[in-house]
Amino acid sequence: MEKKLTVIPPSQTNGNAKSASSSQCRVAAYCRVSTEQEEQLGSFANQIAYYTDYINEKEKYQLAGIFSDEGISGTGTRKRAGFRSMIAACEAGKVDLVITKSISRFARNTRDCLHYARYLKSLGIPVIFEKEGINTMESSGELLFTILSSLAQEESRNISENTRWGIRSRFQQGIPHINAACFLGYDKDEAGHLVINEGQAKVVRRIFREFLEGWQPSEIARMLNTENVSGVHGESRWAAVSVVRILQNEKYKGDLLMQKYYIRDFLTKELEKNDGKLTQYYVENDHDAIIEREIWDAAQLEINRIKEFKRNHQIRELGSSSLEPFYGKIFCGCCGGRMVKKGRKSVWRCINSGKEKGGFCKAKPVEGHKMEEYVSAAWAQLVSQRENLLPGWEKDIAQGNALERLRAAQMKELTEKYPAWFQAAKKTRMVIREIIIGGDRGCEILFMDGVRLVTD
Ligand SMILES: [Zn+2]
Repeated sequence: MEKKLTVIPPSQTNGNAKSASSSQCRVAAYCRVSTEQEEQLGSFANQIAYYTDYINEKEKYQLAGIFSDEGISGTGTRKRAGFRSMIAACEAGKVDLVITKSISRFARNTRDCLHYARYLKSLGIPVIFEKEGINTMESSGELLFTILSSLAQEESRNISENTRWGIRSRFQQGIPHINAACFLGYDKDEAGHLVINEGQAKVVRRIFREFLEGWQPSEIARMLNTENVSGVHGESRWAAVSVVRILQNEKYKGDLLMQKYYIRDFLTKELEKNDGKLTQYYVENDHDAIIEREIWDAAQLEINRIKEFKRNHQIRELGSSSLEPFYGKIFCGCCGGRMVKKGRKSVWRCINSGKEKGGFCKAKPVEGHKMEEYVSAAWAQLVSQRENLLPGWEKDIAQGNALERLRAAQMKELTEKYPAWFQAAKKTRMVIREIIIGGDRGCEILFMDGVRLVTD
């Protein structure tokens, strides 16, 4: 599959950045043409014409000069008269903003680019790289500086034409600056590409599978710890939050979101989450996927469904330490309160029914075995109605979203494979979404695919 890069512009405006459009802005354009490359032949004059028009067209822009160099391979900065006059104009305070076509047109290598972009920034003059959509004064410039710095180090070790314009192709191809040691499932090869680490990928696949089988992140974490499964740093110290982080990581479906975090302070290397402050770069099909796109999408929908379920029922946690499959899913038919099992007793009680805590609900407790009988009867009813339910499942499989497709397929398969509840019972989490009991209507069971049955 082909890689696709999407630029996600920042959703927040940066208050610190000097706004180039607030008043009359003196703009200098810089263009450099490498005469060696055929595609650029003749574009030298074109670029000058382009910038003259561009600056004159904008009301707030005032032309402060067009500076240019005809680049010849091997020419040092010393010989770039146009570039030096542009810098001199900036130093003399005659320029408020520099516009240039792209990073590669601005400087002859990444070290120069980094040096001059930083220098101009220190003078309070932003450089706008049109092609990359970067303004060095805005926070998007920080990504540029980060990548340029890492590339400059590479270059100083190995100055070659291949790495010289690496920055340009890195932006375009979406090759990121990432640390594969920070997440499970991938290693980085010598070229910096993500390659699957099979041992770790197994754990990732297991987490997605169990989650879509109805296990809660806290329960998955508990099981991984019990089995002593190694995490990313080799230790087995799993928590619900680390499981959720894996479920939400787009890298597992082969994509990559760059600039999730950014370095807020270059001296302290302090990282901050990018919640819309900076431009983000989203690359589809960046590397081999561990999780099918369909499954990954279903997991996101399930995360949202659980979030909403918890909010609607005011539950903090669905998973239980006893791995009890009904935990958090049974509600009182009288008052809507949650039914809980206390102590070792296998009895479900409404949380609003306790006399000692001033409970007001009169719902009767339900014996654990009685609950299983209800579910068993509901399952038998479901299996007996399989023929009638099939068209609905087929419709969901054909037209539903990723989660609806998955749930319908699961129900279709399970009702065929496990006609009796004693066989299907271990799939409880996968099939039962919610149970309402203790009201006038017997026991109402909502299955994962949305089918609702009442038994008495
Ligand atoms: Zn109640």
